[in-house]
Amino acid sequence: MKYKRILLKLSGESLMGEQSYGIDNARVLAYAHQIKAIQLLGVEVAIVVGGGNIFRGLSAEKSGMDRAQADYMGMLATVINSMALQNALETLGVYTRLLSAIKMEQICEPYVRRRAMRHLEKGRVVIFGAGTGNPYFTTDSAAALRAIEIKADVVLKGTRVDGIYTADPEKDPTATKFDTLSFDEVYDRDLNVMDMTAFTLCDENNLPIIVFDMNKEGNLMKLMEGEAIGTLVK
Ligand code: UDP
Repeated sequence: MKYKRILLKLSGESLMGEQSYGIDNARVLAYAHQIKAIQLLGVEVAIVVGGGNIFRGLSAEKSGMDRAQADYMGMLATVINSMALQNALETLGVYTRLLSAIKMEQICEPYVRRRAMRHLEKGRVVIFGAGTGNPYFTTDSAAALRAIEIKADVVLKGTRVDGIYTADPEKDPTATKFDTLSFDEVYDRDLNVMDMTAFTLCDENNLPIIVFDMNKEGNLMKLMEGEAIGTLVK
């Protein structure tokens, strides 16, 4: 396997499947199958799930809510998604632990870095819920932060497009895909990979990012086998 320990970031919206809100269980189960396949081969898997399919702080602020309050609601949404993913993985017999940045002792463990690392060493899939635990951040930042903390080899950003393009491929048919990019090229070309806080954290800590299509079955395995799919930023 090319990577020993990975941090997989899944957006909340990716869990919606074809729906316009909420969680598509079939989609979550499909992700769980892909995760199980690489976990069985010894890859240590940590996951951060977003919450945008349920609640986004920034959108709620635009409609008049207090931003911090709304962001905490967004963080709770990530816990709901994390529990759905945990459920799907456990259905497949995968041992998991959900660690939340906001204490919710009846449903998950509190986030403790050393504990997370121990779970990974023992082969459990670790899901990080509630983002960073702080308002004004995103789950992309949580993914970058946790990946650095647990010394992951790479951040894998699973999306519905198969990499980073010169322009939005859903709007511009002439857009072309990059196979690799340096961090500087992303800044220079003003490309949107992750939000700037998350991206800078990865850059400063030499943590490579791969953007890839997680909806295509087998793609996660291909990455572990070293196949050059998606776009690698390093
Ligand atoms: N959020 C936050 N702090 C964090 C992570 C998330 O306040 O560290 C809130 C924020 O309101 C955000 C929401 O949780 O809009 C859902 O997360 P995000 O938008 O990153 O999810 P995604 O776009 O990946 O689905």
